[in-house]
Amino acid sequence: MERSTDLIHHPYSPPDGFVAPQPGVFKASTVIFPSVAAMRTRDWKSKSGYTYGLHGTPTSFVLEARIAALEGGLQCVLVPSGLAAIANVAFALLKSGDEVLIPDNAYGPNKALAEGELAAFGITHQYYDPMSVADLAARINGRTKLVWLEAAGSVTMEFPDLIEQVRLCKARGVISALDNTWGAGLAFNAFDLDGQGTGVDISAHALTKYPSGGGDVLMGSVTTRNEALHLKIKLTHMRLGLGVGANDVEAILRALPSIGLRYRAQDQAGRALALWCVDQPQFAQVLHPALEGSPGNAYWQQVCGAADKADTGASAGLFSVMVDQRYSSQQVDKFCDSLKLFKLGFSWGGPISLVMPYEVEQMRGTRPAHLTAGTLVRFSVGLENVADLRSDLTQALTSALPG
Ligand SMILES: *Cc1c(COP(=O)(O)O)cnc(C)c1O
Repeated sequence: MERSTDLIHHPYSPPDGFVAPQPGVFKASTVIFPSVAAMRTRDWKSKSGYTYGLHGTPTSFVLEARIAALEGGLQCVLVPSGLAAIANVAFALLKSGDEVLIPDNAYGPNKALAEGELAAFGITHQYYDPMSVADLAARINGRTKLVWLEAAGSVTMEFPDLIEQVRLCKARGVISALDNTWGAGLAFNAFDLDGQGTGVDISAHALTKYPSGGGDVLMGSVTTRNEALHLKIKLTHMRLGLGVGANDVEAILRALPSIGLRYRAQDQAGRALALWCVDQPQFAQVLHPALEGSPGNAYWQQVCGAADKADTGASAGLFSVMVDQRYSSQQVDKFCDSLKLFKLGFSWGGPISLVMPYEVEQMRGTRPAHLTAGTLVRFSVGLENVADLRSDLTQALTSALPG
């Protein structure tokens, strides 16, 4: 045999008995079968064997199992981004003539998918008031096949009556899917919200945020507790080719053991800064679900709140402020530009604190009555020292939003 051929066919088998804390990184498109018979009988849908990289590797199976465990689910599929998780759910469950209900404060691209591809495929959508279970109830109809839930809502941070929303979906026989990126499996158990088994059918999670924690990986997951529902999602996952790369899976597996510590640290820092913002006269409103008076705080208490006096409950390190209407949007832009530690960028959950101004009118059907007038700025708190972040906010307020 030519040495070049020899090199390619050099014997190799994964190390048996190599026990290290970190799972191995196995990369494959091709998986080799020992015989045609084995190839024909192997089932790509179960985890009993390997057939092709797209359908799973030992590395991706480990991450799927850990995300399912984190969220209290039983099955999980990995997809290339959080948005792909949302799309996978939609394409698995909806067909022409069906309708999907989405909270008006949902992650923007979820709405964009409904207005774009879903509408083009003859799937209709309605946006419901996330703070009114009655509004959701009134919109569920014979064509409703999927209800999206989000707690807390993106950008405006309202915490809905999640338990009643889920009970309603169950009573009406409609599948509920939660965008669980904010809670990350840590703030509450999406599959058992009340300790009595009231839970969503599906949890979609942008692993890009807290599970990655680095601001350097895009990935998503869809977790379930029902084998038939999982299979539907898995089939669509396969047909759309939503595979993930082993290096990205490795990055998330590496960050996952510290997710609890990071979540808690970013929560504490976020709450300290949100409370400080309450005292700043430039801010007309501070939106943080754990803050008394913030929209849905009572529901946050119910689902994420303190189990006992020593426990402060859990919350992501995200909050928004409504800059008082006496300031122009140019001044608000200058405030964001003046920040030095808070960088201007999308996403959250990484080590670097981020800031982003938003136009509520462009995101919501109607401006909700519970939001004061003004321009909204969202902060995502990273892992920097809190006093340094406070100083950064102070200097930017002084230079851009004089009292
Ligand atoms: C970021 C985010 C997503 C999308 O995640 P990507 O990985 O960036 O596509 C979905 N939902 C929520 C609530 C998010 O914050």
